[in-house]
Amino acid sequence: MDVAKLSFYPFLTQAAAHVAQMDSSIDDIITSKAYGMPRSRARSRVIQSITGAIEKDDNKPDVAELLSYPIARILVSCIDDALLTRRYALAEAKFANTRMQKEDDSDTLLEIGADFNINATIADKGFQIHFTDYIRGAAGMRALNWKLVNRRLKSGFVNITKEEYTRLLQEGIRVRIFNSLPLAVPEGFCLALEEYIVEIKTCQEHRKKELGEEGFGEMEPGSFPPCIKHLLASAQGGVNLAHSARFALTSFLLNIELSADQIIQLFGVSPDFNEEMTRYQVEHIAGGTGTSYKPPSCSTMITYGNCMGKDVLCREIGHPLNYYRKKKKIAASEADSIAVQRQSSTADEQQSAASESPSTADKQQSAASEPPIYCKKAYLK
Ligand code: SF4
Repeated sequence: MDVAKLSFYPFLTQAAAHVAQMDSSIDDIITSKAYGMPRSRARSRVIQSITGAIEKDDNKPDVAELLSYPIARILVSCIDDALLTRRYALAEAKFANTRMQKEDDSDTLLEIGADFNINATIADKGFQIHFTDYIRGAAGMRALNWKLVNRRLKSGFVNITKEEYTRLLQEGIRVRIFNSLPLAVPEGFCLALEEYIVEIKTCQEHRKKELGEEGFGEMEPGSFPPCIKHLLASAQGGVNLAHSARFALTSFLLNIELSADQIIQLFGVSPDFNEEMTRYQVEHIAGGTGTSYKPPSCSTMITYGNCMGKDVLCREIGHPLNYYRKKKKIAASEADSIAVQRQSSTADEQQSAASESPSTADKQQSAASEPPIYCKKAYLK
């Protein structure tokens, strides 16, 4: 493939080899003024993955577009946030799919497939691939039409349309990017890219607020609802949880921002522990395939027999996450009032600080409500 094509598919082995044999060192690309264009495009790639979808930029030279991909990966690695990594991997994969859909040259699509060990041939109305490659590629697809039983098998091969073929490739691209991040990036690179990193983090915070993903701050197991405490104790005690209980616990822990690795470790003591299967399930619930799941509501927990140890606070809420949110607030305000009592001797100073705080808080509130201009799509070039 030529540089223009490689810039469309920068995740390919051939693209990485092309970048590796270029004259410029990675230090130059990260720090030199001459590479401002790919760095700026890298920042757009990552911010667009947060705000929506990566959009094509025809105004940049092919080399700048190609180089922006490894720089974007460095940015994501410096930030090292599980949610951002998932979003970025999915956005890059979807972006590649839009390119592949428009690809007239079937040989290019076959070449991309070969890079993912998918041996395909061109068939009448699309492509033909071996059923083992099909199963591997479709493993993360939930729609029924992807099930092998719903496909016609001929001498071990499955016929699929071009859209289905590129969708399978999209999944391979997503997994490749997700599994390869974070990279081991020297601290100096992250410092050199600090300006972009701050912008990306700011956009991510705004996006989380917009989507109601503000997070729960520091994890406080003492504020977990009784049902989750029970399931957690069971999992840690080696009890083999039923599917619905495992889903409730996993989705709850993911939503309060435990990493997939931390949760997998937690299930490691289960008698039927299968790391590969557990990782697949946890990453699936975490949104690895593009959909992330909220934990079940209290009524669903009751239906499946997973509501255990109800307490007084349970009467006021309808969802385990709301229980946790509320209990944390109660714990925080109790801690505050103890602190205030202890500081009563300096009440005047407290009063004076309190009188200043509303204006500071108001300013912060107003700054936080509107996303900065660099988080807006129109600004990103
Ligand atoms: S009422 Fe809701 S939060 Fe409370 S134990 Fe049952 S499921 Fe959990």
